[in-house]
Amino acid sequence: MFEEQLKNIAAQHRLRKITCIHTAPGATIAIEGQRLIQLASNDYLGLARHPELIRAAVEATRRYGVGATAARLICGTLPPHRDLETALAKFKGAEAALTFGSGYLANAGILPSLIGRGGLILTDRLCHASLLDGCRLTGADLRLYRHGDMEHLESLLKRRPSRKVLVVTDGLFSMDGDLAPLPSLVDVAERYGAEIYVDDAHGTGVMGPSGRGTLEHFKLESRIAFHMGTLSKALGCSGAYVVGPATMIQYLINTSRTFMFTTAPPPAVAAAATAALRILEQEPERRRRLWANRDRLESGLRRLGFRLTDSASPILPVLIGDAHRATQFAEQLFQRGVYAPAIRPPTVPKTTSRIRVTITSEHTAAHIDEALAAFEDAGQAARVI
Ligand code: PMP
Repeated sequence: MFEEQLKNIAAQHRLRKITCIHTAPGATIAIEGQRLIQLASNDYLGLARHPELIRAAVEATRRYGVGATAARLICGTLPPHRDLETALAKFKGAEAALTFGSGYLANAGILPSLIGRGGLILTDRLCHASLLDGCRLTGADLRLYRHGDMEHLESLLKRRPSRKVLVVTDGLFSMDGDLAPLPSLVDVAERYGAEIYVDDAHGTGVMGPSGRGTLEHFKLESRIAFHMGTLSKALGCSGAYVVGPATMIQYLINTSRTFMFTTAPPPAVAAAATAALRILEQEPERRRRLWANRDRLESGLRRLGFRLTDSASPILPVLIGDAHRATQFAEQLFQRGVYAPAIRPPTVPKTTSRIRVTITSEHTAAHIDEALAAFEDAGQAARVI
């Protein structure tokens, strides 16, 4: 039966395989001895192997051991966990912060604490899978609005009977690289008394003059006091955070099942994430390099005739459409020394398979030009341009 299912997946060109990368994160990687320019990682600021993060992780491990030994509320909270939450609240200018083992766990645990049966959730159609799964766990009614379409959102809000409504969105969309229209979203939600839940996984560290994220970019920090983001992308670690008023955080500590019933993250990871927040402030040139690289790659890809999304970020998806063609194109890129796998359904909607290209501060102009030459060659071979 499983064999049959796997055959079906393969027939739709949706079969996934695990690829082992043989080197540390960076602008170039090696797979089976082949050097490749890395264009698929979310390590936007190159912090995953920053010496300060490694040092903090090693020191915390020496001092506190490897495993946290229990859930946060039992005996899993160690000084690195406490220090990270203090640093996150300060970084975000929030009253309090709480961390989770991953972004997926945060969304799966926070959303059911915010709303339940009888409530209504309105979610952008292209929200990350973890948000959709979190929404489903709430038991509330769920309606999807068209991507970034505030008129559609408003029409759904108008129709609601008087009940609790939560609007859920990515701040920066993970597979399209575009921003949620947060200023109008806040206006619309406020007009109808709806609450807002923003997932800023990809905006954290990247967007805004200080890297505080999409809310800083839109100057909305005072209007959206409560939101989540991850430590696993630009911060180079793993885990997630939520910031907000102290009572909300206390409430989550007492109700969020994916916080309560799981072993605390390793102290090494918490210590490294605290170091990452420090580096974000101390090394703003990383963000400058990231944006310069992003602009160079985007204009190069457009010049070559590739179809891109309306990206406003270091995520620069090259739209292909058909899953099989996207896979073939990714293979052509691989043969020419570029690592950027195809993204296919169910990660993205049918007919929008793509190569999700991401760039980091660690790439040089020479890496980008080399990648563009490979794209031109592979694009012609795969008849994409
Ligand atoms: N939210 C968004 C928008 C994401 O892109 C991701 C990760 N791909 C997550 C949540 C999940 O985060 P994590 O990988 O830390 O579980």
